[in-house]
Amino acid sequence: MTSVDVTVRGAGIFGLSIAWACSSRAARVRVVDPFGPGAGSSGGLVGALAPHVPENWNPKKAFQLDSLLMAETFWAEVEDVGGVSSGYGRTGRLQPVANDAGLDLARARGDGAKALWQGQAVWEVIRVEEAGSFAPDSPSGWLIRDTLTARMSPRRAGAALVAALRARGVEIVQDAADEGQVVWATGWQGLLALNATMGRKVGDGVKGQSVSLRYDARAAPQVFVDGLHIIPHVDGTVAIGSTSEREFDDPASVDAQCDTLLERACAAMPDLRGADEIGRWAGVRPRARSRAPLLGAWPDRNGHFVANGGFKIGFGMAPKVAQVMADLVLEGRDEIPDGFGFAACFGK
Ligand SMILES: Cc1cc2nc3c(=O)[nH]c(=O)nc-3n(C[C@H](O)[C@H](O)[C@H](O)COP(=O)(O)OP(=O)(O)OC[C@H]3O[C@@H](n4cnc5c(N)ncnc54)[C@H](O)[C@@H]3O)c2cc1C
Repeated sequence: MTSVDVTVRGAGIFGLSIAWACSSRAARVRVVDPFGPGAGSSGGLVGALAPHVPENWNPKKAFQLDSLLMAETFWAEVEDVGGVSSGYGRTGRLQPVANDAGLDLARARGDGAKALWQGQAVWEVIRVEEAGSFAPDSPSGWLIRDTLTARMSPRRAGAALVAALRARGVEIVQDAADEGQVVWATGWQGLLALNATMGRKVGDGVKGQSVSLRYDARAAPQVFVDGLHIIPHVDGTVAIGSTSEREFDDPASVDAQCDTLLERACAAMPDLRGADEIGRWAGVRPRARSRAPLLGAWPDRNGHFVANGGFKIGFGMAPKVAQVMADLVLEGRDEIPDGFGFAACFGK
């Protein structure tokens, strides 16, 4: 007789969320991570939960929408059980509109959102003057505002999940043997290990760097400008991310690219200039070869499962990933979109 039903390997946002979903269904769960919770890419600063654009709809976008809509309840329950704030808030997002063509496109996407977002959030254009004080300038005088985008503080969210899991008696340990079903949520190192085990490329890692400033705009929408996420957090900080580096020697080092991030953010939001810098952080995003999440049974390894490939939107995807993985692992029910399996990686 085993003492746990599910062993989750990896205590990042995927592993902890899956452990949470399984424990919510009364499964006995143990989480194993030799480096501890949040040691991988989930231990960063940024935390945008931002939707795909509402057009050219596909299963990945629909899955992400479900996940973003689940997030408020997901994080409220985690906070309620563990008593630790995740920093979650559905504070929305502003994006500048470059010109008339951009304005037409933004309005068309607003129509798309009406049809696709199930009346649960809006995508609209507003005049710059209608935005609050924490808003970017816009060449056209217009901004896109959406009310679906949310933020969470990655480190707080990890701590909130750890507290909630412990409150339910879930062990989080550095080493333990496999017991019960085994879920591998081991991030980019796990993708490299899969490449080696399977003898073909499943995925790899893409490094990212980010910066955090002391600047209190906690109730304001986040800003997406010039490819940058500028995110006011609940603790009176603003996170700026991120670089995207396919080639890197040191997964954790920060360098002058952070200065460039900061300069670009200050050019877009001059009020940030002079704010105290309180941190720089680098991590490696797990990127499956399909560029979609990689979820499902481990081929030819009975009782083992993989949840990986969160890439740039792992935090936003986590609630729904946790749900479908618990369905699969505990009930044998496969609700995972076709494009999220191993076949999608090998087919390329
Ligand atoms: C700079 C930067 C900014 C980002 N910004 C955002 C954002 O704004 N919004 C968003 O949604 N996403 C963002 N991401 C992406 C997000 O961080 C990832 O998608 C997410 O953290 C992946 O979670 P994970 O649990 O799969 O992997 P990880 O967090 O990397 O966790 C994997 C864990 O597995 C452990 N591990 C490794 N090998 C083993 C083993 N053999 N046994 C047990 N454990 C093992 C590691 O120690 C680690 O703790 C960003 C990433 C970076 C780098």
